[in-house]
Amino acid sequence: MKREEKEVLYNFLDTARCWAEGFGLPKPAPVTFVDDTTVPPIITTADTLEIISEEIAACGRCGLAATRNFAVPGEGANNPLVLIIGEGPGAEEDNTGHAFIGEAGKLLDKMLAAIDLSRKTNTHILNIVKCRPPGNRDPNPDEISLCLPYLHRQIDLLNPVAILTLGRVALTSLVNTSDGIGKVHGQFFEYRGYPLMPTYHPSALLRNEEYKRPAWEDLKKLRAWINSTVPPNDPRLGTL
Ligand code: SF4
Repeated sequence: MKREEKEVLYNFLDTARCWAEGFGLPKPAPVTFVDDTTVPPIITTADTLEIISEEIAACGRCGLAATRNFAVPGEGANNPLVLIIGEGPGAEEDNTGHAFIGEAGKLLDKMLAAIDLSRKTNTHILNIVKCRPPGNRDPNPDEISLCLPYLHRQIDLLNPVAILTLGRVALTSLVNTSDGIGKVHGQFFEYRGYPLMPTYHPSALLRNEEYKRPAWEDLKKLRAWINSTVPPNDPRLGTL
């Protein structure tokens, strides 16, 4: 509240007091107000993707730290149209520190390019757990819950238009459902206020050609939803 506003309020209350208690009572000493709109706000440490990546690189919260070569924080465009969330790094990602660079990643990039999405311009890619589970096993619930705070901070900073999860583990880490991907792929859920669509993991598409068609339909549906949601002059919608 500005100083002038405080003074108007004070005078009003003082007049009301006079009416209630009588005008013969001694008037209290004048009060000087500080204009608090000129007081700078308390500065809190700003979170950034770089800070989070540094914390992940040095993280030892769960047992996966002991067997990783590189932690994989994720990569791609800031403020993306789509934030893609996989399960965890594979062998090639663990050896390099980069997300989705193996055969599954190449297939994913091709499918994304077909709907004008790219990690260079309008898409960000990361994982539920940032360190590789040995032998590509599923991350266990403790590992997931210890790692999720990083993901939450990343989501809040990235502020995507939509989230696309890849595979069962990514979905069930974020959404309370017992339904399999075969049943819920292409549907919209909500996570932390963001629309979330699950689809098949690209590794599953490499193992089973039958999943390619429904995964492609999911991506087209997601793109159509984005086109109907984002203003047409948004530069993130442009071709690659
Ligand atoms: S998986 Fe996550 S919580 Fe576990 S060590 Fe890696 S960064 Fe830390």
